[in-house]
Amino acid sequence: MDQEKIGKFISSCRKEKGLTQAALAGKLGITDRAVSKWETGKSLPDASIMLELCGTLEIDVNELLTGEHITMNDYKDKAEENLLEMSRKVENRDKLLLQLEIMMVVCCVVLLLGCGVGGAYLLENGQKLIGAILIVSIFLIIVPFVYLGLRIEHDAGYYECPNCGERYVPSMKVMFWAPHIGRARKMTCPHCGKNGYHKKVLTKNKD
Ligand SMILES: [Zn+2]
Repeated sequence: MDQEKIGKFISSCRKEKGLTQAALAGKLGITDRAVSKWETGKSLPDASIMLELCGTLEIDVNELLTGEHITMNDYKDKAEENLLEMSRKVENRDKLLLQLEIMMVVCCVVLLLGCGVGGAYLLENGQKLIGAILIVSIFLIIVPFVYLGLRIEHDAGYYECPNCGERYVPSMKVMFWAPHIGRARKMTCPHCGKNGYHKKVLTKNKD
């Protein structure tokens, strides 16, 4: 126990409460000389008076004996709370992104069907130029949709290796060339090196 540190702590707590040494002594029914001795580190408060002193200064005995406010636990709890909240936010964002991707796929399919069917119909009926433009535009539609879809799948969440359970984010290039069934992609695990279908998960850690 660091008597000097405790003394300084008592002094700063007393000042925080707006008390003079005499006023604190008065409250505890002791002499102000005794308070002065604590604060200069010459003596420690008696066990008999410690609780009352702590009550007056609104600190706990642990803090008094450590000579400082103990906020470690609060700090840790607070930090964990913030972390959890942040990861929840990221998860929600990723969920939204993946829903957006489904909507994009639906729009894309509708557009492609429209262009394909419409283009074929026009070609059949002599409107060769417009028909051809529609058919060509299919490819112009596909490219940005595929890119955006890949981008979303790349940015939202992780892929999980079924062999070792590793969760990771592959490169866009790897994802582009990987065959997929729904959102599961056939890739090589960067951890265990095994090839297989890796499914999409939203979190880095299994919970
Ligand atoms: Zn693996």
